[in-house]
Amino acid sequence: MEDVHVSFRVPGRGWRGGRVQAVDGVSLTVQRGEALALVGESGSGKSTCARALTGLVHTSRGTIRVDGTDLSRLRGRALRDQRGKVQMVFQDPYSSLDPSMVVGESIAEVATLTDRLRGNALRDRVAELLGMVGLRAEHATRYPHEFSGGQRQRIAIARALARRPELVVMDEAISALDVSSQAQIIELLVRLRTELGLSYLFISHDLSAMRALVDRVAVLYLGRLVEIRSADEFYGSPVHPYSASLITAVPTPDPVVQRERERVVITGEMPDPANPPSGCTFHTRCPYRMDVCVQQRPATRELRDGGTVACHLPAPVSVTLAVSASRA
Ligand code: SF4
Ligand code: MG
Repeated sequence: MEDVHVSFRVPGRGWRGGRVQAVDGVSLTVQRGEALALVGESGSGKSTCARALTGLVHTSRGTIRVDGTDLSRLRGRALRDQRGKVQMVFQDPYSSLDPSMVVGESIAEVATLTDRLRGNALRDRVAELLGMVGLRAEHATRYPHEFSGGQRQRIAIARALARRPELVVMDEAISALDVSSQAQIIELLVRLRTELGLSYLFISHDLSAMRALVDRVAVLYLGRLVEIRSADEFYGSPVHPYSASLITAVPTPDPVVQRERERVVITGEMPDPANPPSGCTFHTRCPYRMDVCVQQRPATRELRDGGTVACHLPAPVSVTLAVSASRA
């Protein structure tokens, strides 16, 4: 995604209605084989980013490239095939699984979009896909309601894989599951990544669940990226005050670590996206706010570790967590 903008019209604000800049100039690359997390509170624009990527919402500006090809230059079948390389799995598997269709049919429907298969060859492919996600060929004849939440999410993943994707976008796809099902799905995703060379864009508000999977973390606040770091750097010493507040909010089982942490506490709710604050849009909640923050939007700058941050504070700053120092 290069400088991608997405705006929505919202009703009831003045005679024209208002506009919300849901995604405000996001540039982000997922490398082949990489697992990238996109995090932020609800309303930060992370799902809209994912929907822009898969063509589900219209972008008002910017470029989206899949495998180097600018999607805006493609039409018809070529566009569909290129878009097919990016598949989404949603939080609620019911939204993608037709309750009146047996699971095999539902997977076959997607498989035939990519592969010309019929009869036994199609049944074999469906069985293969079920096997990939840890289900059995016999499951093909059952209906979605006969499965647990975790199993339904496996079926949704099998449907995504049926398109032979290169990038799988998991939009809060494990958030609704219990902790042990979450761990199993993460384990499955790690295995599939090795077996199929997949890349992942992992969208979640839950920072701890995906820690085992992701290589890099990108943080969104009110439609803007505020920090992109390698996962190790991010979880150990986030540099943006908003990231630090997200990290310190995650409880750790180690009481010593918990005590040593310099808790960065932010106050207040996320502002109305239709009427965002001036300058750094985080200034209304930031404990480190300076005058310049209210006046000027901070530029995105590169850090020595290769990450990027958009904040007026000079890095590294006092928000570095005590935990990283004590572990070093
Ligand atoms: Fe806080 Fe200023 Fe940095 Fe924004 S730019 S996060 S208000 S210190
Ligand atoms: Mg969402």
